[in-house]
Amino acid sequence: MERPGDPVSRIVVVGAGLGGLAAAARLARLRHDVTVVERSNALGGKAGSFGRDAFRFDTGPSLITLPATIRDLFIKTGKPVESVLELRPLDQLARYRFADGTTVDVPNSGVHDVAVAFQDALGGRAGAQWRRFYDRAEHTWEVVRTPFVESALDGPAPLLRLAASRPRDIAQVAPWRTLRALGRRSFDDPRLQVWLDRYATYSGSDPRKSPSVLAVVPYVEHAFRGWEVVGGVRRLVDAMYERAVDRGARIRTSTEVVAITTDAGRVNGVRLADGTTLPADIVVSNADATVLYAELLDPPRREVVRRLRRATPSSSGFVLLLGVQGRTPDLRRHTVLFGDDPDAEFDAVFGSSARPPERPTVYVSATADDAPPGCEAWFVLVNAPRHGTGPGAIDWTEPGLADRYADDVLAAMAARGLDVRDRLAFREIGTPADLETATGSPGGAIYGTSSNGWRAATLRPANRSPVPGLFLVGGSAHPGGGIPLVLMSAALVTEMIGRA
Ligand SMILES: Cc1cc2nc3c(=O)[nH]c(=O)nc-3n(C[C@H](O)[C@H](O)[C@H](O)COP(=O)(O)OP(=O)(O)OC[C@H]3O[C@@H](n4cnc5c(N)ncnc54)[C@H](O)[C@@H]3O)c2cc1C
Repeated sequence: MERPGDPVSRIVVVGAGLGGLAAAARLARLRHDVTVVERSNALGGKAGSFGRDAFRFDTGPSLITLPATIRDLFIKTGKPVESVLELRPLDQLARYRFADGTTVDVPNSGVHDVAVAFQDALGGRAGAQWRRFYDRAEHTWEVVRTPFVESALDGPAPLLRLAASRPRDIAQVAPWRTLRALGRRSFDDPRLQVWLDRYATYSGSDPRKSPSVLAVVPYVEHAFRGWEVVGGVRRLVDAMYERAVDRGARIRTSTEVVAITTDAGRVNGVRLADGTTLPADIVVSNADATVLYAELLDPPRREVVRRLRRATPSSSGFVLLLGVQGRTPDLRRHTVLFGDDPDAEFDAVFGSSARPPERPTVYVSATADDAPPGCEAWFVLVNAPRHGTGPGAIDWTEPGLADRYADDVLAAMAARGLDVRDRLAFREIGTPADLETATGSPGGAIYGTSSNGWRAATLRPANRSPVPGLFLVGGSAHPGGGIPLVLMSAALVTEMIGRA
């Protein structure tokens, strides 16, 4: 007989990415008996880290948005985030350098200042148009936030309900309009159009195919500001691990789940690579959703796999970790160097004949805090097609390709004013193939499925699977990728499982 205070259910969480760790902490807080099983020897999944000599790097996220999602996790599992971690607003959101050489330093001090910065740098009607765009995106956020982001979503029903009950709101969301089209309508200045396009890639998507509702991404970034974790995102991973363990969760690394088993249609445990099993009343999968349904679930759910395969996988990323000697004058924490042919770049990343983009847009996150005295640690990221064979993918393990492309990326940076080629203590390369190996994400797709196509959000796997007892958490499930959404998915799954 269950006594008050007894753990309620045996829960196995498959994967210790941010979603898995957050779900583990929350569920253990509700006194469930939680075991996290992680295939790699490191925690954090895509939020990885790397050290060489006295240089330290985060290999995944570098920008924190919607910090309320982090605060919520820590307060709901015990003590506030401030007791374990320092979240700091960035001095400046980013420096953008457009292809014509124009530079905009975007402040992190509120929308008025941002509009002024765009106006001063771009002239024309840039400031006023940016402000109008922001106000419109704010309204869109108000419409979608509760029903589509913070609530469980399974299929198109909420969209249809909204269309029937509040047609004005549906016009606001405009699911038929692409982000590219919204940019063209909102801005005369092609540089602002290019600026908006980039936000599609925050969910691994093509702005020419993804819905205009992604305008809420820059809205959120500006409304709630850009943040960093003092000591790096790896400190967040450590703090989440510690919180989960403090609440009673067990975490096993270097332990791969090869099957999620069922009995009479209900989940009853997991089978590990060493042949042993872990019984469970509930399994929360932080593995990629397509892998879950196609390979892990025993027996697999082919109808779900067919549905998932209708969505385009998200793009991946090509990463350089640079140990840079000397200090760079006027260096910003986050810099975006836009390429000169956005469409060619999107074709290379998302088109059927994928290839490493030539003269790509380059994102640089640089700091002296994680480097030996007088040096800097640079994280460089370029959007890249996923690893694999067939349309839309390339073989990133082809001999020489990664090194050649690293040279190209460094040359593109040099051509746009950031030449560090003769100051490199070392360069480490991370390809989409490496990301696949490290995190089990097929092709190294960063966000599971992309938002390409107006139905993409409704094709995204729900947090509650059709198999009783099986739940999905993380970037390949609802509401999507990126730290805030992944943490929201953990909150949603915990609410669904509850105490019972
Ligand atoms: C280069 C890069 C830059 C990014 N930049 C940002 C950013 O600036 N801001 C932001 O918010 N987000 C960013 N992101 C996205 C963010 O990192 C991810 O959305 C988030 O970390 C994904 O978390 P997740 O819960 O989906 O788990 P994942 O990170 O996908 O982890 C899943 C875990 O499950 C494990 N696993 C899989 N299968 C099994 C199995 N069978 N058995 C046991 N374990 C298994 C994997 O090994 C992995 O550890 C970035 C990502 C990358 C790669």
